Amino acid sequence: MNFVVAIDGTSGSGKTTTAKLVAEHFGWFYLDTGATYRALTYQVLKEGKDPEGEREVGEVLKDFHLKVENREDGQRTYVNGEDVTDHLRTNEIDRAVTPISKMKVVRERLVDLQRRISENKNVIAEGRDIGTVVFPDAALKIYMDAGLNERVQRRRKQKGDGNSIDEVMKDLKRRDYHDSNRDLSPLKRASDAIFLDTTSLTIQKQVDWVINQIEKLNESESAV
Ligand code: C5P
Repeated sequence: MNFVVAIDGTSGSGKTTTAKLVAEHFGWFYLDTGATYRALTYQVLKEGKDPEGEREVGEVLKDFHLKVENREDGQRTYVNGEDVTDHLRTNEIDRAVTPISKMKVVRERLVDLQRRISENKNVIAEGRDIGTVVFPDAALKIYMDAGLNERVQRRRKQKGDGNSIDEVMKDLKRRDYHDSNRDLSPLKRASDAIFLDTTSLTIQKQVDWVINQIEKLNESESAV
């Protein structure tokens, strides 16, 4: 049987780094679903298509083959055989991923892919709709958030491309708003998710906390 942990939350809440390290700790599969939306966005822009045009994005999906691989240095993401991992975190993709991830054709296709990638694996999956839509039966659901100023600082460090505090804050607020207010699969805490405020936690504390939740769950299951 496979064991699924769903981690949802805002950008900069620490979910990506935490999910990666927890997966590493247990030797489980790590799935960064944001990278799947970013990879499609990369391909749409590469083909010169309009990221706001559902028909054009649908065209790109006709020949869109995504593969993700877990390596020691993290997830590698491939589109039609091309390793796109290092091209996914640009400002251009930050902007264009928003309209693309709202589209029904996109969500149907990528959720299906995310489920297939995770089949028969113990997996730590992170994103916005993992506990609500992708894996509603996950054994453990966690929802992470942190104060905006802290998230801005983390994001600037992560991107390291000299964006100002104002620019990063504007992007986070814009994505928070659109991710939380879209019709399909909005970012929200599943009713059975445990909330973790990471504002004043180090990554190590977050990782230890999640590992502890998983171990507690395993103990209580094996006690039954
Ligand atoms: O997690 P990350 O910031 O890389 O995600 C990029 C964008 O992809 C998000 O802002 C959101 O619009 C979209 N996304 C989503 N559903 C997910 C993961 C990401 O809509 N499960």
